[in-house]
Amino acid sequence: MDESRFTRRGSLVRLGGLAAGALGVAGLEAGSSDGAGPAAVASGQVSCVLTPEQTEGPYHIPDELVRRNITEGRAGTPLSLRAYVVDASTCKAIKNAAVDIWHADAGGVYSGFGAGTVNRTFMRGIQRTNAKGLALFRTVYPGWYQGRTVHIHVKVHLGGSVVHTGQLYFPDTVTDAAYRTAPYTSRPSRSTRNATDSVYRNGGKKSLMTVRKSGSAYVATIMMGVHRG
Ligand code: FE
Repeated sequence: MDESRFTRRGSLVRLGGLAAGALGVAGLEAGSSDGAGPAAVASGQVSCVLTPEQTEGPYHIPDELVRRNITEGRAGTPLSLRAYVVDASTCKAIKNAAVDIWHADAGGVYSGFGAGTVNRTFMRGIQRTNAKGLALFRTVYPGWYQGRTVHIHVKVHLGGSVVHTGQLYFPDTVTDAAYRTAPYTSRPSRSTRNATDSVYRNGGKKSLMTVRKSGSAYVATIMMGVHRG
């Protein structure tokens, strides 16, 4: 898909229009046969977990830029986010879902909110899942802000409708290690960890990412089971 045609505002509305018009809703929403499939679920070889719905919080901005690298050059330890979307009923990969993420920068600041960031778009973006249900992002390890454990917000859109709103979490021990390097060391210790986070407590464990070190960067992987709505 030609990403350049989409602008910051109204892109998903246009995607919805495309879905219903030129491509057909079925074309955009068709699940890949690449997933494990219902037979594997029935036989107990695979189980899909419905990823918990969690509050979108106050910092969402609709219709973000369609782009893989969302950093806009801001400082931080590189993080590759690998977000899979599967049908929670069948375990099959969902192709062409729009995965919409946003998070605080290394300093704990959201673009679009607060002094100097009102017209900024850093650490926000949208990618579509491929045939394996995978959406890839390049970003940095998020910073923390008061009262919350470190997290990435996510929405999944299918055919112009939101089918999932959630938050993705990091193992605390990984964050502890990540925050021992610059620029994270320039801030005081974080106030809240997963165990004491009021949002994480509501099923957040099911949105805990697998995070591994890769050189000086991190790779975070999550599988999100969603209902097609
Ligand atoms: Fe947040």
